[in-house]
Amino acid sequence: MNVYDGELVTGLLLSDGFGITQEAEDADVILINTCSVRDHAEQRALGRLRSLGALKRKQPHLVLGVLGCMAERMQETILKTAPDVDLIAGPDSYRQLPEIIRKHLNGSFGKFSIVPGDAGEDFTDIMPSRGNGINAYMAIMRGCNNYCSYCIVPHVRGRERSRHPDDIIIEIERSVEEGFPEVTLLGQNVNSYKWSDLGFHELLDRVSRVSGLKRIRFLTSHPRDLSEELIERMVMGGNICPSLHLPVQAGSDRILKLMKRRYTRSEYVSKIHKLREAVPDIAITTDLLCGFPGETENDFQQTLDLIGEVRFDDAFTFKYSPRPGTAAAAMEDDVPEAEKVERLERMIALCRKYSDNSRKEMIGREVEVLMESVSPKNASEWTGRTGCGRVTLVPGAYKQGQLVRLKVEKVLGFSLWGNPVLTV
Ligand code: SF4
Repeated sequence: MNVYDGELVTGLLLSDGFGITQEAEDADVILINTCSVRDHAEQRALGRLRSLGALKRKQPHLVLGVLGCMAERMQETILKTAPDVDLIAGPDSYRQLPEIIRKHLNGSFGKFSIVPGDAGEDFTDIMPSRGNGINAYMAIMRGCNNYCSYCIVPHVRGRERSRHPDDIIIEIERSVEEGFPEVTLLGQNVNSYKWSDLGFHELLDRVSRVSGLKRIRFLTSHPRDLSEELIERMVMGGNICPSLHLPVQAGSDRILKLMKRRYTRSEYVSKIHKLREAVPDIAITTDLLCGFPGETENDFQQTLDLIGEVRFDDAFTFKYSPRPGTAAAAMEDDVPEAEKVERLERMIALCRKYSDNSRKEMIGREVEVLMESVSPKNASEWTGRTGCGRVTLVPGAYKQGQLVRLKVEKVLGFSLWGNPVLTV
């Protein structure tokens, strides 16, 4: 979502007459887009702001701005840590950026401004600037109503609002015209997309009929809201990729309840069984969190047990850090840091075993790969992705966006390697 927001802000500023430079020293304006999901990301952004503050002291005309979730959540901390910042703009305020930046540039603003957000904002009439590439990220909704107890997102990105389906289709048609063969539909919980009586699976139907669109992916799905209808759409296949990111977070029902995830482990596993029965070649990835307040060794063992039961194709693994303002931040953060680190390492090792196995199981299979670019390591090969998202190397020369059918011959690290059998 932050990549997409960065493209939105770039599109907004380019259409207002600004240009882009690759060197910080050449810029009149530097905007840092930030993430608040984890403490580590916030600390890195503050460090970057401190070093840009040094640049601003050398080049006082520079306008330095902070965007994104930290701008919404930590205005006082930002000002204390990086007093050289000129403007702070949260995720719903970007529409005003060109005007406010110009005021800063011509000196008609005071030292500092906080840009007010619009809680209903969906940026629907703004075209993001994506450059060239394969995949176009596209927000179909913003915000989240779930309030999982550990998560800062609803506090900084506000309540759910879905975009008009006609606007989404227009933006996808334009991205196809610009040369993007693939789209990833984005939302904090895409399964709860709703416009009048049109749900996510029906939106997916409409998107799948966009002429020239070769692949559709979507992120993120909440296990509770994953519907039978969506599974039926995935069975139909076509340009809807056989891949699903379904964050489970934990394997213990007690911890899932404390996290306010609103599903049980057995409900989650039964959805996975249904998905795999319906779409046998589907790749299922997940998010896992260890060291949540109150997590015992027994709870954690249940997470390891779940990883073994589901055999995720890949997983994003994290250790818990409290996010001020969330319900979990009021609970005692009672798992010692060393224990969190140790559990994280065990979780990573187990997930790695299953993701390695999942790649090895691909050997001998025929897959379709969407070509992206010449391999950075070997100019006689191209790199692309399978429908289920695996990076694949292929000998020969291709066009960006070309679909190539190949047989997987071996696994090289995190990539597959295969020879073409038929060019589509
Ligand atoms: S559904 Fe996702 S974004 Fe929404 S509160 Fe839960 S973890 Fe955060």
